[in-house]
Amino acid sequence: MSAINIQSIRSLFPILHQEVNKHPLVYLDNAATTQKPLAVIEALQNYYKTDNANIHRGAHTLADRATGMFEDTRKAVQQFINAAEAAECIFTKGVTESINLVAQTWGRKNLQAGDEVIISYLEHHSNIVPWQMICAEKGAILKVIPVLANGTLDMAAYHQLLSDRTKLVACVWASNALGTINPVEEIITAAHAHKAIVLLDGAQAGSHLEVDVQALDIDFLTLSGHKLYGPTGVGVLYGKRALLDEMPPYQGGGEMIKEVSFEQTTYNEIPFKFEAGTPNIADVIAFKFAIEFVNNLGKKNIIAHENLLLQTFVLGVQKLNDEIGSSPIVLYGTAPDKVAVQSFIIKGKHPFDIGLMLDARGIAVRTGHHCTQPLMHFYQIEGTVRASFAVYNTLEEVAVLLEALRKICIK
Ligand code: PMP
Repeated sequence: MSAINIQSIRSLFPILHQEVNKHPLVYLDNAATTQKPLAVIEALQNYYKTDNANIHRGAHTLADRATGMFEDTRKAVQQFINAAEAAECIFTKGVTESINLVAQTWGRKNLQAGDEVIISYLEHHSNIVPWQMICAEKGAILKVIPVLANGTLDMAAYHQLLSDRTKLVACVWASNALGTINPVEEIITAAHAHKAIVLLDGAQAGSHLEVDVQALDIDFLTLSGHKLYGPTGVGVLYGKRALLDEMPPYQGGGEMIKEVSFEQTTYNEIPFKFEAGTPNIADVIAFKFAIEFVNNLGKKNIIAHENLLLQTFVLGVQKLNDEIGSSPIVLYGTAPDKVAVQSFIIKGKHPFDIGLMLDARGIAVRTGHHCTQPLMHFYQIEGTVRASFAVYNTLEEVAVLLEALRKICIK
């Protein structure tokens, strides 16, 4: 029995209550972006209706209010991930910008020819390309942790890859393509034993897993607000103060400076050193309401409900395969430890066509390579269909998806 009331949760999400192609919308593309609760939508409206002002430098009441609300979100993020200080939480556009920031500042300062950066086969392109770019510039070497057939990382190979040349391990916490939850505690402990630092891509972990940066001793963590029931255009880079203090700024401009003259500029303290220019004030302010939504439900309850949806779907597919015979549906990502993401293909049918057929029944899924082309190459496939679940999804919706797949398979 679920500890959360799904119908009352669904009532907080206006977008879910519509028909698509004459069917009730079944939104199962949550790994791409989650829908937003009313509190987030209203916070955006209220900000522009009553509080809009530029932040941090104003002497007037609205500027003060907007600044207070913006900084309140930073405190909410600090608590959400258990950072030691709010100043260790930097606002960015999203995970992509957070990773580029670390590559272009920490990487440019600290990487040298012959140094090694380790990533994994499960990475999203945003945790591959920034490291390729900075490694090419610095003559550093990119190493890749291999993946096993079920979508878990080959941890024995990881331990072999680590050496005193390793300067950084950048690894996804939970895979967006397969759902695999990586053994981040082991990854971090082993990296630290070699004095390497660790960046975790928390794009998918933020909404699905308990996050405690101090307990895990994470050096850098990246989050995207829009995958966490918040607005697009807001992300977080968490970094330990000792690392952030030593990093050069990312972009130059207003807010990130202490003193500017034509001869010399001194830089502001963290977090402002990394927040040049007018930030995305409205969306940052609204993001706090998304964090509150997750906190009110409780991560444990969210995880339990999402696991139930995933298990029901996987069991349903197995049943369908038995019923139809010759197993037309092939699951990708069968690791024992997963977030609620399931990739699959239907033999003889292109993933994109399956996406269209599901859309015709009101079901939204993602198809393609999921920005993980190297992983698709590993499986020797072009792409998959991916169903990804959120806390507002229901068992009835899983049944609707399964029934639609049954019809597609027997057609
Ligand atoms: N990493 C992972 C695991 C993701 O799922 C995504 C988004 N699909 C990203 C990084 C990039 O996030 P964003 O587009 O919000 O910057």
